[in-house]
Amino acid sequence: MHKLEQCLMNKTMSNAGGITVVLSDIHANLEALTAVLQDIEKKVRGCRIVCLGDIIGYGPDPGACLNLMREKAWHILAGNHDLAATSRDIRSRMNAEARYSVRWAAAILETEEKTFLAGLPLEIKTGPFHFVHGSPHQPDQFNYILDISQAKKAFFSTSQEIIFTGHSHIPAIFIELEFKRMFGGHIHKVERSVHDDVEFDPSKRYVINVGSVGQPRDGDFRAAYGLIDPAKSRFQLVRVDYDVDATAEKIRQAGLPEALARRLKHGK
Ligand code: ZN
Repeated sequence: MHKLEQCLMNKTMSNAGGITVVLSDIHANLEALTAVLQDIEKKVRGCRIVCLGDIIGYGPDPGACLNLMREKAWHILAGNHDLAATSRDIRSRMNAEARYSVRWAAAILETEEKTFLAGLPLEIKTGPFHFVHGSPHQPDQFNYILDISQAKKAFFSTSQEIIFTGHSHIPAIFIELEFKRMFGGHIHKVERSVHDDVEFDPSKRYVINVGSVGQPRDGDFRAAYGLIDPAKSRFQLVRVDYDVDATAEKIRQAGLPEALARRLKHGK
């Protein structure tokens, strides 16, 4: 059997001890998603895929990306763009380009697809993991975790050991080194790692942002996704080249804002 098929057949199984793939912010970029799935197929034998949301928005292929994830992911969480397809309230908090592209996607998606997106969970806790699109601190508010103080809020909001997020489209790892209650207060030491990868230390906790498949914003245009290898107790960030010009051209052909095509090449 083909390795990816094997991986996908496992999607509802416990896959105890197996590799988990975490990906986020596909943003209707089919070329990036396909390249990521092919890369997973090359690297991993038997895996389960967790999608942290924002399958749609910005990009030209919302329906195809949604279908692929429904077929292949073990868990799919709600991103703000996914919910915005049916929520005027969430759309009203978006910038003009995001709002326009979500309305464009909502117009071409089937009613059943929009109902599916609207019903996605905001967070999932399983084993040591807490999966969420923004932050475990008020998941329905889609807070960002960009700095130490936002990471501290995230750690405060969960007792899980490893928090996986997306939303900012910028890969990052925050490590909780120490938490101690004392004299009615507490000591809370959190640092930002300078690395993309980490070996888990059971005495510490982690916030890990897996970056974005379809619209990276860390200056690297390549698609990003994360691998958790429980055997090695390790997280690894992977970057994958894809045909960015093809996606940019599709964005233009769809009549979506030119800026959305341009930013893909710069990874901004
Ligand atoms: Zn996003």
